[in-house]
Amino acid sequence: MKIFRLPMLVAVLCMAVVLPQTAAAQTYPNKTITLVVPFAAGGPTDMVGRVVAQSMGVALGQTVVVENRAGAGGTLASAYVARASADGYTLLLHHIGMSTAPGLYRKLAFDPLKDFEYIGQLADVPMTLIGRPDLPAKTPQDLIAYLKRENTKVNLSHAGLGAASQLCGMLLQQAVGAEVTTVPFQGTAPALTALIGGQVDVMCDQTAQTVPHIKAGKVKLYAVTTAQRLKALPDAPTLREVGLKDFEVVVWHGLYAPKGTPAPVLNRLNAAMRDALKDPALVKRLDEVGVRVVQESLQTPDGLRNHLREEVERWGALIRKAGTYAD
Ligand code: ASP
Repeated sequence: MKIFRLPMLVAVLCMAVVLPQTAAAQTYPNKTITLVVPFAAGGPTDMVGRVVAQSMGVALGQTVVVENRAGAGGTLASAYVARASADGYTLLLHHIGMSTAPGLYRKLAFDPLKDFEYIGQLADVPMTLIGRPDLPAKTPQDLIAYLKRENTKVNLSHAGLGAASQLCGMLLQQAVGAEVTTVPFQGTAPALTALIGGQVDVMCDQTAQTVPHIKAGKVKLYAVTTAQRLKALPDAPTLREVGLKDFEVVVWHGLYAPKGTPAPVLNRLNAAMRDALKDPALVKRLDEVGVRVVQESLQTPDGLRNHLREEVERWGALIRKAGTYAD
């Protein structure tokens, strides 16, 4: 008899843990879900977040609200979600910054490779190199010469260490061989306002925000950061075309949940995310601003986890070379 007691106890304990989770997963979601966006409202990540939240809400039959938790280049929001309840009601939408943060911060309050469950990759967002409306540089070549000549007199705005705009700005300085003065903001929404107002000179920002402003003539467009030209901005050359060899920054996005979120909940979220990414209204809205939904094989937990791991390594090496750190 005795031999059976321990396994039985283990079985009962396992059921005690698993049953409530299964029950919760069966009724999931029965209240509003919060999608945390790690940058300021009105910016490009916010734009992608709101479009995805809307379509996922329809797929889940529940409201998905966006909560902006800006600060420290997206790392405050990541740390917040890493510590949130693992019940599927707090999620994180983050981008390439999830993979640059471990290289950029000597101390990080979360581990991108250990503290999350991975739901899937969503979309790739190109970047644009833009300038204030009255910047004298007319062409991308003029701009490169201006950066080299004026160096620290040039103000380049970005959204903090860990933001895509900071990564792009850092790579731009390396590629051009210039050292500019960088001005951090809580997101590229306020950074763009400063650029339009002429308080800063240049910035890299994602098309999800910049396309309408470029088309309205509010900022000067110099180039795009992708390897190929963009359908949304066909006249803009790539930075490669203007002589910055191998330059490419594409801002990939992923959907995360806190570590320990039950598998049935994660499956439900992944299915809803994939449904949302097929929504023609979402595809059209994103396509208009140069955003491309990723291929289906990447819309998976492995598609996100593996890419994140590779990117942490890739950017870690490049950041060490650039010597950019925050304590
Ligand atoms: N995408 C960020 C924002 O929404 C900023 C960045 O990553 O550069 O503000």
